[in-house]
Amino acid sequence: MSILYRSDEARGPAWATYFAEHAPDLDFRVWPDAGDLTDVEYLIAWQAPPELLASLPRLKVLFSSGAGVDHVDFSKIPDHIPIVRMVEPGIINGMVEYVSLAVLALHRDFFDYIETRPKRIWNPLEVPPASARTIGVMGMGVLGQAVLARLATYGFDLRGWNRSPRRMEQVDSYAGADQLQPFLAGCDMLVCLLPLTETTRGILDRRLFAALPKGAALINVGRGGHLVDEDLIEALDACHLSRAILDVAEPEPLHHEHPFWTHPRIFLTPHVASMTQPETAAPILLENIRRHQRGEALEVIDRSRGY
Ligand code: NAP
Repeated sequence: MSILYRSDEARGPAWATYFAEHAPDLDFRVWPDAGDLTDVEYLIAWQAPPELLASLPRLKVLFSSGAGVDHVDFSKIPDHIPIVRMVEPGIINGMVEYVSLAVLALHRDFFDYIETRPKRIWNPLEVPPASARTIGVMGMGVLGQAVLARLATYGFDLRGWNRSPRRMEQVDSYAGADQLQPFLAGCDMLVCLLPLTETTRGILDRRLFAALPKGAALINVGRGGHLVDEDLIEALDACHLSRAILDVAEPEPLHHEHPFWTHPRIFLTPHVASMTQPETAAPILLENIRRHQRGEALEVIDRSRGY
């Protein structure tokens, strides 16, 4: 029984080492050292090109090596193959760290001090208590909930928006398109942690920004496709939004001439908010494979919803 890993090359050996130690009965192969493809029953991949899928006649499950599956073309994956995304502590912790850092840096005016430092201006800004800042998180899934739980420890005023109603302690919950406007109306900082689907593509647009209070900041850690780039620039230049922290872009890498590189109130990172960590992800993959071997159900992607 074989597993083929076809994802980040640098991290391949760490996955292989884990499987060699903990599941010596499984033949774990790292691309391009794939051996006889007709043996492969489980594929763990970021991209699963149709040519590769066509050469895996015994494939039983496709595991995405990342938390999102928006890059997977479902139409190219035979219907009988379940798709399972990666939910693992390393991804969750990374996202919690990144969003906490972004929220705290905005809350404590770090970007203002970075800007004024070259001018040698000693100008202490008044800091409101965390409870006076409202942080809104779009998408109360695995990551959104973990982020909200951590932000609660700092005492921020919290709200979340989700497709279906989600209750969480210390968080005001909003659900569905009807409650989007009231949700946005109170957010001093807006965090996007939605999956990218047909419904959410371009959701961070002019209309949404107009519904935020003047001076609000955006943190986009979802996908670049959520954001309408020119609408963000317009909202920043009109001083309706104060700042944006963007970890994702479309396309990635962002092309050299894109205005996000030079905009003074955009802080850009190259899709590093969180990454699958082999140390914590390999045990999860192994557990899922064992579960599948025992005939137990896996938590699979709903292809009709797109996540
Ligand atoms: P998840 O557990 O599947 O949660 C997604 C949440 O979004 C669900 O609660 C879902 O609501 C909600 N949702 C979906 N469509 C919606 C809509 N149209 N309106 C309102 N809410 C909607 O996903 P996750 O693990 O939290 O990850 C979220 C996203 O983070 C991923 O898809 C990926 O794009 C992004 N991500 C980014 C990085 C990075 O490094 N920047 C790393 C990992 C993940 P229901 O439960 O009601 O369906």
